[in-house]
Amino acid sequence: MTDLPAPTSPAAPSAAPSQVRFEVETTVPTTHGTFRMRAYADTVTGADHVAVVASGPDGSPPSDGALVRVHSECLTGETFGSLKCECGPQLDAALEAIRDHGGVVVYLRGHEGRGIGLVAKLRAYRLQEDGLDTLDANLALGLPADAREYGAAADVLRDLGLSSIRLLSNNPEKRRQLEAHGIEVVETVPLVVGVGAFNEGYLDTKRDRMGHELPGHLGTGA
Ligand SMILES: [Zn+2]
Repeated sequence: MTDLPAPTSPAAPSAAPSQVRFEVETTVPTTHGTFRMRAYADTVTGADHVAVVASGPDGSPPSDGALVRVHSECLTGETFGSLKCECGPQLDAALEAIRDHGGVVVYLRGHEGRGIGLVAKLRAYRLQEDGLDTLDANLALGLPADAREYGAAADVLRDLGLSSIRLLSNNPEKRRQLEAHGIEVVETVPLVVGVGAFNEGYLDTKRDRMGHELPGHLGTGA
């Protein structure tokens, strides 16, 4: 035993500095239930992220294997009720799932329009009026199909003591990125809600061109 400080060891993945800084935790009642909300500052992007945390039916806080939704901010879908995507209904369903089963919704800001930002997203919508799909519209603007990054989400989960999760998602890329950032995904739980006439083509593109795990036919009422 020694009182000397431990030597700096070669960087192990788990010893990497966190991308997020915990700021505050408070209780917020919502129309979906009462949750603990934990705010984080992203030290890389400057964005604020929120972890919405629900205890399980037995009152215990989320632990390894907990149900987790890693959700990207979507102003148009969540605030204005846009029918061009399914983000609003997905967020509602995710909050209801963690309310009922316990778990976490990690809400990532700076992810508007799959990470290209609000103005670029509306520019892409404008191109979609001319017939481009959601993927080609981004590419026509010289932007990546998906610019989202999940290092912050992984660090938020680690801060909550979670190293393995059940992921509420249809997006295999999200799973791959979380695993690359050291979070084990023991199961992917599909989240197919909010399908309608205005976003059927959008969801078909996500399935056929971006690898999302969605049913073959997404017609309304299916
Ligand atoms: Zn959306």
